[in-house]
Amino acid sequence: MSRRLVLATGNPHKVAELAAMVRAAGLPLTVCSARSLGPAPEIAEDQGSFEAHARLKAEGIAEWLRGRGEPGSTLVLADDSGICVAALDGAPGVDSAIFAGPQADDAANNARLVAELGARGLERSPAHYLCVLALTRVDAGADAVRLFTGRWDGEVRTTPRGSGGFGYDPYFWPDGSARSSAELPAAEKNAQSHRGRATALLLAALPAVLEA
Ligand code: IMP
Repeated sequence: MSRRLVLATGNPHKVAELAAMVRAAGLPLTVCSARSLGPAPEIAEDQGSFEAHARLKAEGIAEWLRGRGEPGSTLVLADDSGICVAALDGAPGVDSAIFAGPQADDAANNARLVAELGARGLERSPAHYLCVLALTRVDAGADAVRLFTGRWDGEVRTTPRGSGGFGYDPYFWPDGSARSSAELPAAEKNAQSHRGRATALLLAALPAVLEA
């Protein structure tokens, strides 16, 4: 059996995007989500930075897998991501998933985004997505976590378009694009998105990690 790469995210959309990109690279890895292996622990996201959250998620899932007897060479990949809106002083940022409250879904978060822009008399604002990937091994110490960062610039608008992607995608227009990120086919989104860019850096580093 080839070595496992366990994705430390419970968000099925992020699992699908990451798994597709890693699988397309043709590396000798079996990709699965932590959740598909059992009741993975929820890692608190209260540190205020994408880097800290990605790191904590990777370490937390690695520790959980270690306790379940997972081989030490298994890799763990965590993602922390979100959208930063200039007119909102960078909000929702690390709180993108819970912008409208702890139980908020995409619709509620998007409704708050539109309301916040409307309250400022705006129909659009510069914005960017950020993604930090954290890679570690089940048997690695905390100092062994490697981080890869991707950024996707554009603007948010108050009128949604498209039904692809997830989260804020219907409200985000990449720079120079006539289509929202929800109108892009998955492969086109992955080729330019924050997660796609961070994954490209990860994939460039993975062969050396696999040899070590
Ligand atoms: P996390 O699970 O704490 O990293 O929260 C990520 C949140 O950021 C998601 O729930 C979405 O609201 C938002 N987000 C991150 N990446 C994307 C994307 O590619 N498209 C749309 N929304 C995204």
